[in-house]
Amino acid sequence: MLSFPSDLISGYGRYLQKGFVRHKETHERLAVYGQKPEVMVISCCDSRVTPEGIFNAGPGELFVVRNVANLVPPYEDTEGQHGTSAAIEFAVNGLKVKHIVIMGHGQCGGVKAFRENANEPMATGEFIGRWIKLLEPAAIAMACMPVDKTDDPQLAMEYAGIRQSLKNLRTFPFVEQALESGNLQVHGAWFDIGSGELRTMDPDTQKFDKADVAPGAD
Ligand SMILES: [Zn+2]
Repeated sequence: MLSFPSDLISGYGRYLQKGFVRHKETHERLAVYGQKPEVMVISCCDSRVTPEGIFNAGPGELFVVRNVANLVPPYEDTEGQHGTSAAIEFAVNGLKVKHIVIMGHGQCGGVKAFRENANEPMATGEFIGRWIKLLEPAAIAMACMPVDKTDDPQLAMEYAGIRQSLKNLRTFPFVEQALESGNLQVHGAWFDIGSGELRTMDPDTQKFDKADVAPGAD
């Protein structure tokens, strides 16, 4: 017999008593007036990397799309269902977000699968194998840019994937238009699971550095 996971039900109970109560007025306002998030985050499906948790964001603050290896495909004018592209279109044209953050992370299984030609459990199935091919241009770009080389090839590939996704974002005409008009900014970030360290990408050097957190920030 099928049963809904009991951990989810008990977790929901705790959420109702604490999280929801804390944001009750926000929920009511959002229900009446709709959402108006200023930031879109594109991050990995990895269960260890939760954008709302990392950025301490409440309901209505982040428009999040998660996919394997936090990838943005290039703009395509073809038939097919493009989930990530649809979310980007809605964020930019519908919600008019001011920022898009591509957030990669350490120990990314999707990136690892690409580097190792997809070993288990990220098998080269018809979906994952095709999807992570989006990293191919990133690997080529990395090989051509000595500045990208670090001692850690997995980390270097994670960084390269973020840069490639930022590049692919600009192939969407409406993204380019919003960038040109100054209504949108795009950013790269990387999160370290073990230490909780967040690194942000310098737009000029394309290097990643530890994010400065103001002392006393709460
Ligand atoms: Zn990942």
